[in-house]
Amino acid sequence: MRRQADRYTSLRAQATQTLVTETRTPLFEGAGSRLEAAAAIAAASEDTLERLRLPQSVLKVSVPVRMDDGSLRTFPGYRVRYDATRGPTKGGIRFHPNVNADEVQALAFWMTFKCAALDLPFGGAKGGITVDPKELSALELERLSRRYIDAIADFIGPDLDIPAPDIATNELVMGWMADEYSTIRRRRVPDVITGKPLALGGILGRDTATADGAFHVISTLMPKLAEAGRMRAPGQDDGNAPSVAIQGFGNAGARLAELFADHGYRVVAASDSTRALYSEGGLDVAALRSAKAESGELPAGAGDELDADELLALEVDVLAPCALEDVITTDNADDVRTSVVLEVANGPTAPEADAVLEDAGVVVVPDILANAGGVTVSYFEWVQNRTGMRWSADDVAEGLEQRMVTEARSIWDLSERHAVNLRTAAYAHALQRISDAVDATGSVADFRPPGHA
Ligand code: NAD
Repeated sequence: MRRQADRYTSLRAQATQTLVTETRTPLFEGAGSRLEAAAAIAAASEDTLERLRLPQSVLKVSVPVRMDDGSLRTFPGYRVRYDATRGPTKGGIRFHPNVNADEVQALAFWMTFKCAALDLPFGGAKGGITVDPKELSALELERLSRRYIDAIADFIGPDLDIPAPDIATNELVMGWMADEYSTIRRRRVPDVITGKPLALGGILGRDTATADGAFHVISTLMPKLAEAGRMRAPGQDDGNAPSVAIQGFGNAGARLAELFADHGYRVVAASDSTRALYSEGGLDVAALRSAKAESGELPAGAGDELDADELLALEVDVLAPCALEDVITTDNADDVRTSVVLEVANGPTAPEADAVLEDAGVVVVPDILANAGGVTVSYFEWVQNRTGMRWSADDVAEGLEQRMVTEARSIWDLSERHAVNLRTAAYAHALQRISDAVDATGSVADFRPPGHA
């Protein structure tokens, strides 16, 4: 028994931290390419653009986990803090077999812009573990979550870097992680992680915040898009309600489908990693949600089965990718026939596909605006934990709506003013705020000797 305990201690010690220098890689390169268009219309300083070229810090760790059968497996884990000029960094933790340093770095970059676009006092970060969580038991998942926090504990903190949920991590996982961090620090530290269970300081409405925020954004833009003839408005009661296709019927996608269905849209298609379903008259979203909650899968037979690619090519009013990045690429962008792409997933449109969609007249509501409801309510949770004052469900709902509507309008106005698409406008809106913060710390203009241009 003693030898086993010693061995366990040494296994924990194996979660060694390695600071690594990453080279620029495809997904990250693509994420950065959006900056160029934004820089053309934002008055961003050269210092800001130079600073945003590389992440502030990149941590790669090994996460050793004792499996239920007694064997040991080691999983690669990452945490990237991209830029902390506007505040402590903030970003989710993802468990997925495709997680790698490039992806995490790109996601941390997006978080930096998302927090600035919504005017949250945060920089951007992201984390993840390369693992297929479906292969692990609940106990193995708990050990994995706790070992990951052991490995990154010196890199995170309420004033430093605040994780949150992302793909395949939920409030249960956040609860384990917050508990582990508190154990390490020998005191309760609720403000180190958001998306926690209510009983551990979580906030009402966090679970639905991403979809709720996306729905506020589309509802704010819809009248403008309808007026410009870019999309049909709901509520005309002509038996032909605007149609929606949801790729990724998970946390965010299922709730968004429900909101659309409840507000006069027809959700004609939905998919998850097991199947894609279609019904011209509209799927029974409530039935899909309860079946998915019960079995973890969309139920066979609840609609006509489609190929995954067919869903992306449906002629609908709104296509909402709510799963993974790079689902619309130059390989399939020509097939996309929706009026509007509502990017609830992070990075669902590859940068090279942007121009194809634009040429085809497809309006893309960019991820850094469309899915920012999650981090906005995470911010409210952090404030709640720091002040010790509980927010009511109404406080959260009002705060979320106010912020999403305000920033969606500003981004729309910027896009009109400069005749650019919504993505470029959203990046420019965020870049301006980052640049103001960078310059306030001292810019080249302050330090150039007199007489220099
Ligand atoms: P989730 O794990 O709950 O849901 C993802 C869903 O996508 C699952 O139903 C899965 O089966 C499905 N899926 C996976 N691969 C698919 C494929 N190839 N085709 C169709 N469906 C597929 O994750 P989530 O929390 O809903 O996050 C979804 C996306 O939204 C991610 O890109 C995430 O980064 C982004 N996002 C989430 C939040 C949040 O608060 N949950 C916030 C911001 C952004």
